[in-house]
Amino acid sequence: MVLAHPVRAGLLLLCLLLKAGCSQPVDQAQHRQFFALGTLVDLTIYGSDTATAGQAATELERLFTRLHSDWHAWQPGILQETNRRLATLETFPVNPDLIPLLSESNRLSRLSNGLFNPVIGELVALWGFHSDARPDSPPPGDDRILALVRQAPSVTDITLQDGQLQNRNPAVRYDLGGMAKGFAVDRGIELLQTHGIDNAILNAGGDLRAIGRHGDRPWRIGIRDPRGPGVLAAIELGADESVFTSGDYERFFDHGGTRYHHIIDPRNGYPANAVTSVTVIHSDATTADVAATALFVAGPELWETIARQLGIRYVMLVDNAGTIHMNPAMQQRVRFDTEPAAIHLSKPL
Ligand code: ADP
Ligand code: MG
Repeated sequence: MVLAHPVRAGLLLLCLLLKAGCSQPVDQAQHRQFFALGTLVDLTIYGSDTATAGQAATELERLFTRLHSDWHAWQPGILQETNRRLATLETFPVNPDLIPLLSESNRLSRLSNGLFNPVIGELVALWGFHSDARPDSPPPGDDRILALVRQAPSVTDITLQDGQLQNRNPAVRYDLGGMAKGFAVDRGIELLQTHGIDNAILNAGGDLRAIGRHGDRPWRIGIRDPRGPGVLAAIELGADESVFTSGDYERFFDHGGTRYHHIIDPRNGYPANAVTSVTVIHSDATTADVAATALFVAGPELWETIARQLGIRYVMLVDNAGTIHMNPAMQQRVRFDTEPAAIHLSKPL
């Protein structure tokens, strides 16, 4: 706890004792943690009074709990209902709450050349990732994977217009696991801003958006080492930035000495295997989340092309030999804990 000012410190103590009715900004971070969207959500607010921060945190928790069930890929909710109707190939009115999420997912999928593909729900389910803890069983058979890949579900099979959803491919099923956290974090930051909160970090399982500052210094965050317990690098954040990482360590199972993780290459139906983690910095969290997943699939060969198409300016990718790939602007911003053995610098994005 850092308390720079004795008078404020006294006020804070009073606020804590009274628990309510304090409208004085406090010169320290206030925290709230809860589980939603399959992960631990950690909210940090700086420089707001305790009543405002508490009220905003409660509303945020309520919002995330609702989005958790609305968007769930394998439990009852409006997304599951939408998937059921998509399978019928009949045009139907989509739940209005889903429209911004679906249209954004479709737009970003096109910009990623379909490497971020939000309609491969059948493949993700086939791999066993539609359960809270994947059962310990062998990977699916090649024939079943190939059958789904041949059906090539794509957002180009879908028309979303005037609130109506039309699907032309029976293999299309939404799974928004690759962008739901980002979209929720953006909505969460908007909510905090409506409460007049200007300094905060909204962190969902290590992926986050930060606004403002931590008092007289910028927010600083760490990027997890994909192959160790510690931190790979630290980054100082600007006034409104999101940092999202996709890693093969988030959800996986081991079988016969091979790791099978949850980020699937839609081109062949198997977990993308060239990379262990991708970190993206971008202004909004939705684009950052999508880009981290898309660039993970793109791998060392293709990430620059896809990053440019998505308008991303900061990328760090760790390939499975441990080499760090990044663009020069990213290199300017990361501070490594231990200097990496090999860095491959790309052209500017
Ligand atoms: P995390 O949720 O662990 O931060 P990602 O953002 O990369 O990681 O999302 C991975 C999730 O996205 C998977 O669990 C699955 O639901 C979904 N998914 C898997 N492969 C793809 C893909 N190629 N495009 C879009 N979504 C994907
Ligand atoms: Mg993602």
